[in-house]
Amino acid sequence: PSRADITYFGAGPAALPTDVLEAASKALLDYNGTGLGIAEHSHRSELATNIINEAKADLANYLEFSPENYEVIFMQAGGTGEFAASVYNLVGAWVSRQHAALEKELGDDEEAILAALRKKVETELKVDYIVTGGWSLKAYQEAQRLLGPEYVNLVADARTINDGKFGKIPDESTWKLSKDAAYVYFCDNETVDGVEFPAFPSVLTPDANGNGPIVVADMSSNILSRRIPVNNYSLIFFGAQKNLGSTGVTVAILKKSFLPPHTVQPSAPLLRKLGLPIPPIILQYEIIAKNNSLYNTLSIFDVYIAGQVLKKLLNTYPDKVDGQQAVAEKKASLIYGALEAHPDVYRIVPDKTVRSKMNICFRVTKNGDTDETEKSFLKAAAVLGLTGLKGHRSVGGIRASNYNSIPLEGAEKLAKFVHDFAKAS
Ligand code: PLP
Repeated sequence: PSRADITYFGAGPAALPTDVLEAASKALLDYNGTGLGIAEHSHRSELATNIINEAKADLANYLEFSPENYEVIFMQAGGTGEFAASVYNLVGAWVSRQHAALEKELGDDEEAILAALRKKVETELKVDYIVTGGWSLKAYQEAQRLLGPEYVNLVADARTINDGKFGKIPDESTWKLSKDAAYVYFCDNETVDGVEFPAFPSVLTPDANGNGPIVVADMSSNILSRRIPVNNYSLIFFGAQKNLGSTGVTVAILKKSFLPPHTVQPSAPLLRKLGLPIPPIILQYEIIAKNNSLYNTLSIFDVYIAGQVLKKLLNTYPDKVDGQQAVAEKKASLIYGALEAHPDVYRIVPDKTVRSKMNICFRVTKNGDTDETEKSFLKAAAVLGLTGLKGHRSVGGIRASNYNSIPLEGAEKLAKFVHDFAKAS
């Protein structure tokens, strides 16, 4: 088949806009008449710096957050690397705050400060995780591995209210938040399980003075698809390979108060004395931010692609992310609507209140048989050019990833197929 025949619903890497790829294929051979391709130019060149700075500005413009208050950092760690980076950097910031407070209290008695700090680490250090699916579970496990389970508090485990499976978000009134956690972590959209937070959790919302918990979110699979209250977060991270661009670059949006001069990460010797893990330098936000994401060799090609996708979004939607959100909602409701119209054949996996607009997970059953019916569903869909619909290997079933690059017509085509498949005997 040719590219034009396919609507690719894969969960990531996702399809990219064809015009972006066409321009990129030219840029790979010769970037802007320089005689050298975009992947060959030095990451230290002015041209590379311009690409980085424009992508940063366009991201802030599209999501409408202030570059005065938030730094955008490009990394190569993947979402998985950010699971670790969030632990290191925010625990480091916690240590740094405690250290400053103890200095005020105890003056320059370094031994007394160290003893008091050790005690605080032992008795007060907590990081909080809300586990609502496979990816927040992995992040929680990584925090346990790096820090030690005694420091990691499970705020809520969605499996406990749904027969051991993901698919619901426990009521906020049942969340067991720590007092003054170093941070509270959640995954805004669970790619494997199709569970998305319908809105920013109210218990985490800052008060009128802007004071509230330190919130970290993984938005790998729904960034750029909906409006987010960026000011409620201290850190948002996401891999590029779903809604932003090509695999190979990861973005962190970090509140500047977590960077120097406001926060300086503790030194390796201090962390060692406290028995806390020492971050690899490449996961230290302050080092990467200080170097405008160029501490080491960054894939400028991937930043370029992300930049082109952002420019396309800004050109397509005068009202920025709100415009894209309206389209995402329309596409999702077409597909969910088609599934709901045939309850005898389709079962949508997550609870209605937390259904993801990006990853639509469902099971297909006819004549009491699910496995074979799903196989024929996938086969018949592929004949029509509807591909990438197989569910994640850990949960099975069908998953239609409705990322930004799926056009409205693609969602319509899938919705029609969902109807037709149900009706066919
Ligand atoms: N977080 C979410 C929500 C994801 O969907 C994924 C990957 O699909 C990851 C994290 C892990 O990302 P990576 O494969 O870039 O490490």
